[in-house]
Amino acid sequence: MSNLKIGIGYDLHKLIEGRKLIIGGVEIPFEKGLLGHSDADVLVHAIIDALLGAAGLPDIGTLFPDTDNKYKDANSIELLKKVYAKIQSLRYKINNIDSNIIAQAPKMMPYIPEIKKVLSKVLDTEEISIKAKTKEHLDAVGEGKAIEAQAVVLLEKI
Ligand code: ZN
Repeated sequence: MSNLKIGIGYDLHKLIEGRKLIIGGVEIPFEKGLLGHSDADVLVHAIIDALLGAAGLPDIGTLFPDTDNKYKDANSIELLKKVYAKIQSLRYKINNIDSNIIAQAPKMMPYIPEIKKVLSKVLDTEEISIKAKTKEHLDAVGEGKAIEAQAVVLLEKI
């Protein structure tokens, strides 16, 4: 059996007025924010699901149910820390993470270095890639009604 485990994560949240926009643990100035039970951090949720999937653990919705008031407006970085602790307790380390943020607006590029810094600190690795894409004005994301994120993670048993 290989010591390597790959995982994939995907998430989408609706963009609405009256919410803060938090992506990758960074608050991004914008007139709208993501709707969700927690802080709706779409990138962190995709990374969490990729980590859980790679480790063969139940998904984010099972671990942190949105019916549980404990997770109302929860800081997703705190959830990521919990998941990373689980991964470590199973004796995995992160080899690398690749991810996409898919948003028509705002421009994500200027925030990527800060997001990377926050995630690197939590996950003890610099091997994190974050790419920013738009949807060319197509579908709900392209119309500015939602933001999507995708992540893949490679774990290594130590
Ligand atoms: Zn989510």
